[in-house]
Amino acid sequence: MLKIYNTLAKKKEDFTPIKKNVVTFYQCGPTVYWTQHIGNMRAMVLADFMVRSLEYLGYKVKMARNYTDVGHLTSDSDLGEDKMEKTAKQEAMTPEQIADKYIKIFEQDTKALNCQEPDYKPRATDYIKDMQKMVQILLDKGFAYSTDLAIYFDISRATDYTKLSGQDLTKNISEAGKGDVIDKDKRNPADFAVWFFKTGSHQNALQTWPSKFESKLVDNGVGFPGWHLECSTMCQTLLGKTVDIHMGGIEHIPVHHTNEIAQSEAANGVEFVKYWLHNEHLTVDSGKMSKSSGTAYSLADIEAKGYDPLVLRYFFLQAHYRSKQNFTWEALEAAKIALNNLREKIADLSINKIGKSNIDFQNKFIDSISDDFNMPQVLALIFEVLKSDLLDSDKLATILDFDQVLGLSLKSIKKEKTPKEVIKLADLRLKARADKNWQESDKIRDQIKELGYIIEDTVDGYKLKKE
Ligand code: AMP
Ligand code: ZN
Repeated sequence: MLKIYNTLAKKKEDFTPIKKNVVTFYQCGPTVYWTQHIGNMRAMVLADFMVRSLEYLGYKVKMARNYTDVGHLTSDSDLGEDKMEKTAKQEAMTPEQIADKYIKIFEQDTKALNCQEPDYKPRATDYIKDMQKMVQILLDKGFAYSTDLAIYFDISRATDYTKLSGQDLTKNISEAGKGDVIDKDKRNPADFAVWFFKTGSHQNALQTWPSKFESKLVDNGVGFPGWHLECSTMCQTLLGKTVDIHMGGIEHIPVHHTNEIAQSEAANGVEFVKYWLHNEHLTVDSGKMSKSSGTAYSLADIEAKGYDPLVLRYFFLQAHYRSKQNFTWEALEAAKIALNNLREKIADLSINKIGKSNIDFQNKFIDSISDDFNMPQVLALIFEVLKSDLLDSDKLATILDFDQVLGLSLKSIKKEKTPKEVIKLADLRLKARADKNWQESDKIRDQIKELGYIIEDTVDGYKLKKE
């Protein structure tokens, strides 16, 4: 039985999807205003490992990961400039061009890291109508109210607003209440915007849409959606009002995900997410990754130093998703040595025919992924298989079976092509041995040796190795 640590329950729980054998999975995707750093990439590889694990366990996974291309302000709550527009000005491009540019880089990077493509890759700006519909429902139900600057969600109306974070709002009020642009008409400092009007600090906003909210309380006008509303809407439109898994980084617990729950559950009257999964962060040299300190490395920086992206993937597999992981160049070098070592062993094993995946190891593998996606345990298991007394052909089959989840492309490791001549001799020798013609068998062994190969007898035939 798969067990998952659910942030909502604050414990590991048995996983039961809403629909038998199908899992709906939403991951908060990138805000596409810059090249994502390797911390962001860790989150993508972790989600990929989870999706592959679920598929291995027999589920059909429907995954959506969004692109935030409007409405994420420079703070995670309601303050500051729109990140997209800020970069658009800096790079003298339109926000759409900025989104196209960074989505392209992101997709190249996730592909290089061998992450499977999600089923849906929604761009927030393509779902504005659905977002407006949700705002209207919130207004109709009395969960939202308008000021001159924005339409806010009234958190006092939410049922158990802090259920995900457990935060004490009297001590730890949301950032939205303390910044430079305080809307004096907000009812509660922690109320968050679901729709901003093109006015006040956003009067020069570049990406805005006409809004015709039907409410006496709303002075209609153009505007743009709040970031939290975007994820709520895309998730619901593509995967349904209740989804099985919603994943994101731990920084999203107190604001982004708390607000997603509040508005979705208020609008729909049903539970929004069954299992909330949060990944811990990647640090660099034990510190927070940041552009200003030069530690926000991108995948391109890793490749520029000669590393194959799959070395980074291997590095990520070494830590559990709920543990912090620290990146150093030494640690990456160690991952490279370990992956090369594994590849060499696979290349050796690949000289032989592929056998059968071993059922005992398979069971151990299933136990590891079912224990809240225990990636380090799976990696350790690979080395247990290599050290075991399984037939080489079965070792190969077992590891390639696990690699469907690890995603290290081990199947494509160049097989040492054994020359046809050597295989022909080995088969002749097999026949000689079956006929108990030992003299002939020894003669052929020498001939094989002369061609640079060593033949060993095994239960299921023979094994060839390069000298
Ligand atoms: P953003 O573009 O900032 O919205 O981030 C995209 C995704 O990367 C989100 O799911 C974040 O939680 C995640 N993320 C951001 N920084 C890190 C980090 N240092 N380590 C791991 N994941 C991160
Ligand atoms: Zn999100």
